[in-house]
Amino acid sequence: MKKSLIAALTLAAGAAFAFPTKPITIVVPFAAGGPTDKVARDLAEALRKPLGGATIVVENVGGAGGTLGANKVAKAANDGHTLLLYHIGMATSPALYRSLPYKTLDDFEFIGMVNDVPMTLIGRPTLPANNYAELVKWINDNKGKVNLANAGLGAASHLCGLLFQQKLGVEMTTVPYKGTAPAMTDIIGGQVDIMCDQTTNTTAQIEGGRVKAFAVTTPKRLTTPALKNLPTLDESGLKGFDVQIWHGLYAPKGTPAPVVEKLNAALREALKDPEFVKRQEALGAVVVTDERLTPAGHKKFVEAEINKWGPVIKAAGQYAD
Ligand code: ASP
Repeated sequence: MKKSLIAALTLAAGAAFAFPTKPITIVVPFAAGGPTDKVARDLAEALRKPLGGATIVVENVGGAGGTLGANKVAKAANDGHTLLLYHIGMATSPALYRSLPYKTLDDFEFIGMVNDVPMTLIGRPTLPANNYAELVKWINDNKGKVNLANAGLGAASHLCGLLFQQKLGVEMTTVPYKGTAPAMTDIIGGQVDIMCDQTTNTTAQIEGGRVKAFAVTTPKRLTTPALKNLPTLDESGLKGFDVQIWHGLYAPKGTPAPVVEKLNAALREALKDPEFVKRQEALGAVVVTDERLTPAGHKKFVEAEINKWGPVIKAAGQYAD
């Protein structure tokens, strides 16, 4: 008998409902120290209290744009103790991979969305360009030689970089990493040229002057102090450029409904935690407060994102086996 069924029957029999009964693992499908990892660690901290002081650990399972970690959670015990924090890759990977080892909408319980995160176009500090116009000139002068870092097919940096190349009409050499934390190390060190990455990873580096920042990917400028002077790609000439990513929390399919409800209630509490909200704002992210914070609203949004990005990705003609 499946574990979830046993749990459901136990609950139906009126047994005391205890969750969690052991440490909870949040799988981050990217490298430690990167943008998604930062969100996950802050979230783990904020979830502890609403989950009765539970131990919550973060496990980094990077690779293949986040699909390796997602697959691990899809196949994990469905008792609510193994969760996944994944971003827009949840919605873009069905179009990017010809044979994804899990079904995005069928193999998970949707717990709720966490945040919306803008992205920034950054470059190595030694680039001879100091603003977006100079960057475009440098890219055009160096056609065939420009390196673009990303975190693999399915990563937000991949999607953003793909659209950037497409709208600019220039092909670059992409350098894939297990997450944008190691990619950032190479940008800072000057080994790769440019990257489009989430503000949760770039804000501190921009603030510290360790990378050059050229533009933001949202249609509107941002208000975060370190980012507020950056132009949008749209106003800089890439009309209609609009990439904003998001994170959501998932459990394996079949996790008992009372557990999903408890996790959702804990998530709602966590997202109200002033420390969590402050941290996210400082990193340029916006905490979700709308209907996407319900399991049904979360799933509906991911479905809409799959329908939104699928044709864009297909038009860009990029996919993997
Ligand atoms: N979110 C990824 C990371 O945490 C990067 C990406 O999606 O581009 O490394």
